[in-house]
Amino acid sequence: MIKQLEVVRREHLKEKPDMATLGFGTVFTDYMLSMDYNPEQGWHNAVILPYQNIELSPAAQVLHYGQAVFEGMKAYRTGDEVRLFRPEENFRRMNQSNARLNMPEVDIDFMVDTLKQLVTLEKDWIPTGEGQSLYIRPFVIATEAYLGVRAATHYKLLIILSPVGAYYGSDHLLATKIYVEDEYVRAVRGGVGFAKVAGNYAASLMAQTRATELGYDQVLWLDGVEQRYVEEVGSMNIFFVIDGTVVTPELNGSILPGITRKSILELAQHLGYPVEERRISIDDVFEASQAGTLQEIFGSGTAAVIAPVGSVKYKDQELVVNNGQAGLVTLDLYNHYTGIQNGTEKDPFGWCVKL
Ligand SMILES: *Cc1c(COP(=O)(O)O)cnc(C)c1O
Repeated sequence: MIKQLEVVRREHLKEKPDMATLGFGTVFTDYMLSMDYNPEQGWHNAVILPYQNIELSPAAQVLHYGQAVFEGMKAYRTGDEVRLFRPEENFRRMNQSNARLNMPEVDIDFMVDTLKQLVTLEKDWIPTGEGQSLYIRPFVIATEAYLGVRAATHYKLLIILSPVGAYYGSDHLLATKIYVEDEYVRAVRGGVGFAKVAGNYAASLMAQTRATELGYDQVLWLDGVEQRYVEEVGSMNIFFVIDGTVVTPELNGSILPGITRKSILELAQHLGYPVEERRISIDDVFEASQAGTLQEIFGSGTAAVIAPVGSVKYKDQELVVNNGQAGLVTLDLYNHYTGIQNGTEKDPFGWCVKL
């Protein structure tokens, strides 16, 4: 197990972008973390070095058989205080994803310590505007040059950082329009839906492109067997407020276990909302809408945080939620959740890790 972290400084720091007009994931900071794995040394060669291109054999296994796992998390700054949000959860999930793709697990404490050092070094890159943060992207790829099909022996872990604005543009609480995909599926039980692997996204792009062409923002995925039960949306988990209860699909192996999802469930309970994790069919959603009990829908994920859903299109029906506006429960959860992350509100759960 590695204990040492080397830091290679760059001579000149980059010029910072105009933080007022940040998009998502377009600008990268001065430094990154890199670490290598081989069977003899395990994880080794941990180094913070200038952000740069990486060298990879054209035969690297990730390019052919897709052993690639990633994570997404954020650092927030208020004045001089910097916070990470539940970072150990992300590395724990990374290990679950790694295990599913037959890739080596990481030492969670070492990764959190290393990330703290990297973010401390890059503190000046953390934007402080409304909805802004430093997006953190850890990922692991198979680097062994070998075209035979088996788990690779060599891997690289990298962490890159990107200052970001709100995921859906400046009006971050604008309700999104979602399209229920009834042909393709994202994941099936027994597959890799619960793991944060690159291939899940590759498989989702065609449906996303079609939804975008039809004028929708995101795809809502149904289960891979019956195509009846709601799973999740694009890069977010999904929540419904039905008759005052906050409902989200239960984890079933094909749904990604979001850290925002888990935190929203804990927060909603803490705020006194009844919560339910259960199977919910798309027909249930439309029936609740018809009956007038479907009050709100929102998505949850690190990138978008909480994104209200304004309408849902399924086959030839379309339902409008709360007049296409963010609802009161959504706003209440959003305000408390972002308040805890930004440090403007007490953190009764001990979620934030201060640098
Ligand atoms: C990352 C991700 C989410 C959200 O997870 P968080 O931990 O809340 O960011 C939801 N669905 C998919 C498919 C994802 O990749």
